[in-house]
Amino acid sequence: MTEKQYYDLIVIGAGTGGYVAAIKAAQLGKKVALIEKGDLGGTCLNVGCIPTKTLIANAHILEKIKHAADFGISTGSISIDYAKMKERKDTVITKIRKGLEGLIRSNGITIVRGIAQFTGPKELKVKGQDNVLMQAENIIIASGSEPMDVAAFPCDHQKVYNSTSILEMTQLPKTLAIIGGGYIGCEFASLYAELGVKVILLEALPMIVAAQGKAISDTLTAAFKKQGIDVQTNVMVEGIDKHSKGVTVRLKDKGSIEADAVLVAIGRKVVSQGLGLENSGVLLSDRGSISVNEKMETNVPGIYAVGDVTGKLMLAHVASHQGIVAATNATGGEAVMHYNAVPAVIFTLPEIAMVGLTQEEAIEKGYNAGVGKFPFQVLGKSIAAMDTDGFAQVVIDKKTGQILGAQVVGHEASSLIAEMTLAIANELTIDCLADTIHAHPTLPEALHEAGLMAMETPLHMPPRIKK
Ligand SMILES: Cc1cc2nc3c(=O)[nH]c(=O)nc-3n(C[C@H](O)[C@H](O)[C@H](O)COP(=O)(O)OP(=O)(O)OC[C@H]3O[C@@H](n4cnc5c(N)ncnc54)[C@H](O)[C@@H]3O)c2cc1C
Repeated sequence: MTEKQYYDLIVIGAGTGGYVAAIKAAQLGKKVALIEKGDLGGTCLNVGCIPTKTLIANAHILEKIKHAADFGISTGSISIDYAKMKERKDTVITKIRKGLEGLIRSNGITIVRGIAQFTGPKELKVKGQDNVLMQAENIIIASGSEPMDVAAFPCDHQKVYNSTSILEMTQLPKTLAIIGGGYIGCEFASLYAELGVKVILLEALPMIVAAQGKAISDTLTAAFKKQGIDVQTNVMVEGIDKHSKGVTVRLKDKGSIEADAVLVAIGRKVVSQGLGLENSGVLLSDRGSISVNEKMETNVPGIYAVGDVTGKLMLAHVASHQGIVAATNATGGEAVMHYNAVPAVIFTLPEIAMVGLTQEEAIEKGYNAGVGKFPFQVLGKSIAAMDTDGFAQVVIDKKTGQILGAQVVGHEASSLIAEMTLAIANELTIDCLADTIHAHPTLPEALHEAGLMAMETPLHMPPRIKK
């Protein structure tokens, strides 16, 4: 160990939550160190958002090519080189990771490589490539999460994969069973089905993406069935037997399923062990996550936690926003975390995006909720590009006109939801949306028109027949 190093702020973990917190604190003039035991960028960049969306981009291209003839383009036979797709995915990650390292260093942040452990509330020791003792007035824990393993069917990463190891696969299986119909399981199901794999999606609950509500679940289930995905709900996996030809997935009271490989996507566990938290006084919740207040501060003054490890919404943009809030408070400012306008996207085919309240949730909360729903089937831009599946929907409070929520299903739903997130975060009313000029022909016109429908003044749909 070298001499003890002193900083204003130390951040543990260089995932989306941690590196954003470090940059924010450095911008506010503080001397900052960022400790990382693995790759800069954490889950999102290396084994989460970016690799999956890079592979999904391949599937989108393929889907367009399959319909090339409809656009008057002949292609001949189409083939897939999955090893090359995987190689492209790795290149994308490496490129972004290099850029990220440059960005962190350009902000004057010291990167420390190794495993960090508390030795006291303001002191850490790091072991690994760097071996140092470090001290700071403020520490932000951003140690993230990792795939959950099940004792009954552990991953061997040869035939039984988790969401990390399946990204290293270089050859597509013919048949893939996916255990877990949450958003991660569904994104992989959509990706592999589009690439020609026979996918069997197994979910223990009565519906897939249950956290997103019944309407979204029904929409996605219907789209999956159209795509040829075998969606099985109310099924409990008891075990997996490996054999020379593949795997047998044993189901409770429902027989078994044969597949070439299995993806276990049953959820993620927070990384709160191994941090020496017992030496810091930081308390954990019953589920092992680090409890924080609205300022992202733990029970120990000066120690903050952000991102997946807090067990809130496990999304990259939530982690980074929490990082900004924590860094602001840790450097003497004041910021509070709000969760009422957090967009959530499922990158399936079609994409599904939502923010704020659904109509049902709004009614439950006592609002006189109105809804406007505009189908892409009648939108010029969608018809021109032959992307007519889905709809844009806006939920409003009929009394005040406040925009309460939005749901979009279809092409570029992930981008479209940003306008509604801005509206909800800033408590805009439906008049603001209606009075905003939307470029023509574009997809956001669907939101404008959905807003007009919520006000019962549609321009591009027939008026409702009044009785
Ligand atoms: C397959 C998949 C797809 C996803 N897709 C999306 C998506 O499309 N959109 C979205 O918003 N979210 C997505 N997510 C979720 C997103 O990746 C996470 O919410 C986000 O990465 C959380 O960021 P974080 O900073 O909290 O933690 P992480 O990104 O997990 O980073 C934590 C870092 O801390 C390091 N660390 C842990 N302990 C120590 C220690 N003791 N010392 C030093 N370093 C340590 C780890 O090595 C890691 O690099 C996806 C996740 C997965 C698995």
